[in-house]
Amino acid sequence: MSNRRRALVIGGSLGGLFAAHWLRTIGWDVAVFERVDDDLASRGAGIGTHEELLAGLRRLGLPADESIGIQVRQRICLDRNGRRVRQLDLPQFMSAWARIYRLLKDGFPAAGYRFGAGLERIEQDASGVTAVFADGSRERGDLLVGADGIRSTVRGLLAPEAQPRYAGYVAWRGMADEWDFPPEVHAELFEQYTFCLPEGEMMLSYPVPGRDNDTRPGRRGYNFIWYRPTEELEELPLLCTDAAGHCHGQAIPPPLIRPEVIAKFRSDAQALLAPQIAGIVIRIAQPFFQAIFDLESPNLAWGRVALLGDAAFVARPHVGMGVTKAALDAECLARAIRDSGDDLGAALARYDRERRQFGSRIVARARRLGAYIEAQRKPLAARTDHERQPPPETLMREIGSMAVNLKEIAG
Ligand SMILES: Cc1cc2nc3c(=O)[nH]c(=O)nc-3n(C[C@H](O)[C@H](O)[C@H](O)COP(=O)(O)OP(=O)(O)OC[C@H]3O[C@@H](n4cnc5c(N)ncnc54)[C@H](O)[C@@H]3O)c2cc1C
Repeated sequence: MSNRRRALVIGGSLGGLFAAHWLRTIGWDVAVFERVDDDLASRGAGIGTHEELLAGLRRLGLPADESIGIQVRQRICLDRNGRRVRQLDLPQFMSAWARIYRLLKDGFPAAGYRFGAGLERIEQDASGVTAVFADGSRERGDLLVGADGIRSTVRGLLAPEAQPRYAGYVAWRGMADEWDFPPEVHAELFEQYTFCLPEGEMMLSYPVPGRDNDTRPGRRGYNFIWYRPTEELEELPLLCTDAAGHCHGQAIPPPLIRPEVIAKFRSDAQALLAPQIAGIVIRIAQPFFQAIFDLESPNLAWGRVALLGDAAFVARPHVGMGVTKAALDAECLARAIRDSGDDLGAALARYDRERRQFGSRIVARARRLGAYIEAQRKPLAARTDHERQPPPETLMREIGSMAVNLKEIAG
């Protein structure tokens, strides 16, 4: 029998896969348990990347070459009439959730990854930790990593008081196909990172890999995210109510969004966004929205259990760092374990210290960047300086910017 130490990773999305890869590099036997029944590759949308993410993938020996995304060189801001009012040189790779998932999932042994395994309970003692799943099966390991996202079961068992906090706005999202672009709009916009900034709102759009993660010209995708203030107790439940009158809580599967909600979204796009962007956004067949939350866990480690990725900290997406943070969390966890020999307690204490500080910083920063959207329902005079809409150049420089460029994050 092998005496390799064994990690049980709960959650087989990007955070869980990064943890699985990093723990294997330090010689651990790793098993991943994902609640969903089959491949997750159809999930998600476009994401901005950071050099730290690409460098981390390369350190794992994964091929993070330019096919991982599309480089944008410039950020531009369009006004309501479609005029370019600002521009800024700021190169960045834009990728897609599914593209990074594919890279990580295909590079991990299929035998170590189980779909349809929803964790329900954890038991731990001095010699190990046991995960108990919904089907009654049990798995024993030396370490359990909770990489099970913002509604983490693992965190719910250990720190039930840590709950996601609604930010006061939703992000409408969607992806257009490159081939649907009128030629003049394509030439003007397609390879730019574009901002439209209606009063109290924020819309970003940029090119991303297309269907099947294709990055060849003509086959790419174009992603938009539009942050819109949405009141929590009446407006959000109404948005999340389907045509049969059933309210799905604070999220609704995209196909169930009522046609009148989509129609209102399209007419608002025409009224508020630059016409070139509105023309693209309104043609997307299935736009969808996600309520924006942030979350801070009081601890990242309890005995033989560690939290990672969105299960630990969720910053609003304005920092564009969710995937990068999950990757850095995973690498830090593996390094702390490697450096501490047999002392898992010391390793997890170090992990907790280092990643809690980083997580708190990015949550705070993302809150500041989104504060003006959150504050829309306050009278102007009652808003603090942070709650006033920053000038376009500040947003263009700071949204999704590299961590190394942000003093308070880089430390
Ligand atoms: C609007 C928006 C825009 C964003 N833009 C960006 C961006 O530009 N750049 C970026 O880096 N990030 C971005 N993000 C954030 C990014 O998507 C997340 O941070 C990242 O996907 C987190 O990965 P994770 O693996 O920690 O969690 P998740 O992806 O949530 O995965 C958790 C997994 O755990 C599984 N699971 C849950 N419970 C259980 C259980 N009990 N047992 C077993 N499995 C379970 C789930 O099925 C899921 O697969 C954005 C997010 C939003 C909402």
